Amino acid sequence: MSRSKVEILDSDDFKMFVCGPTVQDNVHLGHAKTYIAFDVLARWLLKRGKQIFFVMNITDVDDKIFDRAKQEGTPYMQIADKFFNAFMEDLDALNIATVSKFDRVSNFIDESASLVKQLLDSGKAYRLDGNVYFDTSKAVDYGKLSHQSQISLKLKQIDAAPGKRNGVDFLLWRSVPEENEGVWHSVVGNGRPGWHIEDSAVAFSEFGGPYDLHGGASELIFPHHESELAQDEAISGEVPFVKIWMHTGLLLKGEEKMSKSLGNVVTIRQALSKFTADEIRFHFLKRHYRESFEYDQKSLEHSKDEFRQVINAANLAPRDSKIGHASGKEWEEFCLQMDDDLRTPEALSTLLRVSKSIREDKPELHATFWNMVESLGFRL
Ligand SMILES: [Zn+2]
Repeated sequence: MSRSKVEILDSDDFKMFVCGPTVQDNVHLGHAKTYIAFDVLARWLLKRGKQIFFVMNITDVDDKIFDRAKQEGTPYMQIADKFFNAFMEDLDALNIATVSKFDRVSNFIDESASLVKQLLDSGKAYRLDGNVYFDTSKAVDYGKLSHQSQISLKLKQIDAAPGKRNGVDFLLWRSVPEENEGVWHSVVGNGRPGWHIEDSAVAFSEFGGPYDLHGGASELIFPHHESELAQDEAISGEVPFVKIWMHTGLLLKGEEKMSKSLGNVVTIRQALSKFTADEIRFHFLKRHYRESFEYDQKSLEHSKDEFRQVINAANLAPRDSKIGHASGKEWEEFCLQMDDDLRTPEALSTLLRVSKSIREDKPELHATFWNMVESLGFRL
């Protein structure tokens, strides 16, 4: 939100929340890029002695899942379960191992409804044709996260419906007829929560109040995170409710982002049939997490060749059960690079240099090598 770097190493406990996927299908490499970035952040904070509590929500209540269930004639929870389990397998395969807790939003319907009720009671939300919308004119500077002016917001429409007070007022609760699937009985009526309030419900339940960092891909900044922030602050009265918003650049395919709706995805499973998790991780970390860049198999193959240098060093440096203490100027350099907003392209260059020294028989660098490997999340 500040569009600048913010000091985050000042307290021991660190509460972070990263938006998980909608479990409607197998997830793709664009997701992998984001979750690898936050995994590296978490690993680095742990390395720096922080206690982290890392929550990831899983959107398993969503129209896309209901639609697929209808098409396939299966209960929607069966689809949600199937792709939730597949996502867990993918994360495991990619060594994304720092998430403390996965929260499926279907377990937070009552919490969501109770937040919606609080917003209605305080006059910050209103009912329209059975649905409930957030009144963005009552938010503290709606548009501040995505840096949009009031004029440009006036031209936007979210969750379009005739009669809304402002174009960007977003859906908090959708009323759904009793006979449909995905109907919950709640204090605000029968139906289901909107997308943004589900995240707030998870955050309030897990953290109980303000927290340190919320992350996701940059496509989530507006309207998703902007709306989430507006709700959080409207409900709690705490500004800022989230200290740091951190977003990753997109993975592109040609000119467009890789996305299920555009039909141009390479799934994690497909990628893992050609490359190892380490090679994929190495490839993504060669670019800074904020960058958007294009996926192409050729450059991944190039990364695979480069990564061989690290593998060769690993074969020469015995991995003890305890990896020992890192020290020396290479480690200091690595720390500066990682401390400065995770400059992984440079950190990888340092790792490659250390790998070369090990191949030239410098056993004093073994501990440093393994500390770097561990910080970046390679399995080897
Ligand atoms: Zn989210």
